[in-house]
Amino acid sequence: MDALDILTNLDHCFPYFQPVFSADEHRVIGYEILGRYNGGGQVISLGPFFQDNNIPEEYRLEVDNTVLAKALELAIGLDPDVLLFVNRDADLLIHDSGEEFLQFLLKFQEKGISLERIVLEIAMDESKDEMDHLLNYYRTFGIKIAIDKLGDESSHLDRIGQLKPDIVKVDLMPLRSMNPPPAYQDTLYSLSILARKIGATLLFKNIEMIYQLQFAWQHGGRYYQGFYLEKPLSYFIPRDILKDKLKEEFHEFIVYEKKKLESIFAITESFQVKLQEILTKNRKSMNFEELLKSLSKDLDHVALRMYICDDDGFQLSPNMFKNDGKWELQPAYTGKNWSWRPYFLENMIRMRNDKKGILSDLYCDIETGETTRTFSFPLNAHEYLFIDLTYDFLYQHDSLL
Ligand code: CA
Repeated sequence: MDALDILTNLDHCFPYFQPVFSADEHRVIGYEILGRYNGGGQVISLGPFFQDNNIPEEYRLEVDNTVLAKALELAIGLDPDVLLFVNRDADLLIHDSGEEFLQFLLKFQEKGISLERIVLEIAMDESKDEMDHLLNYYRTFGIKIAIDKLGDESSHLDRIGQLKPDIVKVDLMPLRSMNPPPAYQDTLYSLSILARKIGATLLFKNIEMIYQLQFAWQHGGRYYQGFYLEKPLSYFIPRDILKDKLKEEFHEFIVYEKKKLESIFAITESFQVKLQEILTKNRKSMNFEELLKSLSKDLDHVALRMYICDDDGFQLSPNMFKNDGKWELQPAYTGKNWSWRPYFLENMIRMRNDKKGILSDLYCDIETGETTRTFSFPLNAHEYLFIDLTYDFLYQHDSLL
């Protein structure tokens, strides 16, 4: 489509709306406004036009405003709590210190669209100091900020922490294949923790299959958008259109997750019982090295490394480590301190109080590079046993992976 055709046919430019659904109510909470052009009966996306830097800014802005004005005009009839996601090029906003856009929105505030319903979507890579000031200025009017187009890297985490957006949009496109890059999940995990810390809501977009919806739900996503739910439309839909369907699907997710958690709980319990048995058997020889040797026989294919620490995290024993299929004692580890590890002291206190072992989450072992979990177990109030589990063992109990 020729840019000139678009510019000379502004009446052919109009908005599409893609609904955003929420996890807590299973209903439409907002719409992203998208630009479309009707060229000879064919509806095409204005996306490429808006992103074309060869087209002078004022022309792009004119088309953008035409679409937005039509969209907001239509949105006047919506429930007063429905959010409106507006895409804007940060450079175009900064152009006039963001005043034109603000005045534009204020005009519609008079018609009943409060600024608190506007979610301004900007791309992360466009952010600079000037941008921060502008966004903070907009915020004083109640406008919400969403970060879209995160890129594939976690390198934006610091910028997100700095900007403290209301909403972070996460693209699920990389999850289209059943085997996304392993780093993808870890990055998302960091992102979900950061979002929680700064009070931002995660919106997962490009959800095209049910497993992507499940993934979004599992990773702390509150808002969802994508063809699996609804494609962009020229009109608004009943808010509860998917309520029953989503309720049913989320029920399945919940059942699956609970089953998994119950199985992890059962494995933790069986560890607890097994260790108590072994310890009762070894009660007389409570020398740490002998205990670890005895454990290495009983947990031969289960453990990859074992050691004992005191309640300040100082290692009291050598490592018992399985090297090339053979158990060996590694005395160099005696005396090291592990209290700096995340959750270490917290888990220690929990074990002491509950007098029970704890199974950690999945993580990557620094030395072996293997995916593992650690079972920690209180020998008494001051001594704690740590057992790093083999990948084979996790693999045999697939709920552990
Ligand atoms: Ca967007």
